[in-house]
Amino acid sequence: HAKNSGRNTFQIFKPGMNTLIEKRRALEVDLDAGIAKGEFELFLQPRVDVVSAEVTSYEALLRWHHPDRGIVSPVDFIPVAEASGKIIALGEWVIREACRMLSLEENVRRLSINVSAIQFRHTDFRRRLDEIVRRAGVETKRLELEITESVLIDDDKRALKILNELKTSGYAIALDDFGTGYSSLSYLSRYPFDTIKIDRGFVANLGEEASAEAIVHSIIDLGGRLGMTVVAEGVETLEQAQFLARSGCDELQGYLLGRPQPLDKIALTVPAEVVAGLAAEIHGSVETP
Ligand code: C2E
Ligand code: MG
Ligand code: MG
Ligand code: MG
Repeated sequence: HAKNSGRNTFQIFKPGMNTLIEKRRALEVDLDAGIAKGEFELFLQPRVDVVSAEVTSYEALLRWHHPDRGIVSPVDFIPVAEASGKIIALGEWVIREACRMLSLEENVRRLSINVSAIQFRHTDFRRRLDEIVRRAGVETKRLELEITESVLIDDDKRALKILNELKTSGYAIALDDFGTGYSSLSYLSRYPFDTIKIDRGFVANLGEEASAEAIVHSIIDLGGRLGMTVVAEGVETLEQAQFLARSGCDELQGYLLGRPQPLDKIALTVPAEVVAGLAAEIHGSVETP
């Protein structure tokens, strides 16, 4: 009957508009119960050193096993958690769970966790983080905090103070999704980052858009000069990995190296053909005897 509906019917509402709002509201209602019922899980994705082809650390990526909806992506529920303030409880769960994994699994040398701007700006963030980490008996240097540029724009001075305190406590700090948002090159020198992560949009455009190569080269060069570890995100092909290796990128992350997986299924090593491909790029092609 949709084709019979004219301008004066309910069809003036865009189909899907209502359901999107409803979906967000439903997710918000389910968030608290989800935390309490243990529906969340941290998947781990390896980060790989370009030269040694060894896993240096893992990024913790949150998954929600929703009883009715199946696995819900953080792209869908993180904004809902942020808008409702529930990101604070969820973010603390992530810190606790990351610490639990670190104390359980020595093979995991370091974990990077994503910290939402709202969580970072919360007055209690640093105190709660320290408390959870201390109680778990985990060394702070085994945790890296990934923040995005949105943390830095509004409250410059306070963000700088907190970042310096976190750094002094021994945490590593990464700037995530670099090159998107309101990037300013001066951020990089002003804040105490150990790591910059090149946004996967640039990596995806390597070989497609000439500008992507120029941008990636510049980020690697600048990060290197500032003494930071430069990580490329979203590496899917050997061609991308080899371009990044040639360009002096320090570490790679992406489906080529390993997909995000539950702790008991994580890859401890890199696929052999990727190791060979990287070695050929760095040491020149190796003839088999
Ligand atoms: P992010 O921190 O930039 O994480 C990288 C995203 O890229 C992840 O998406 C990962 O699964 C995906 N990815 C990794 N390798 C590849 C690849 O080769 N190709 C493609 N196409 N994608 C790849 P995911 O897990 O869906 O997470 C999306 C975003 O949600 C994250 O982006 C992060 O901003 C946010 N997020 C995830 N977990 C948390 C969390 O615990 N707390 C907070 N506040 N945000 C989180
Ligand atoms: Mg991240
Ligand atoms: Mg990212
Ligand atoms: Mg370097």
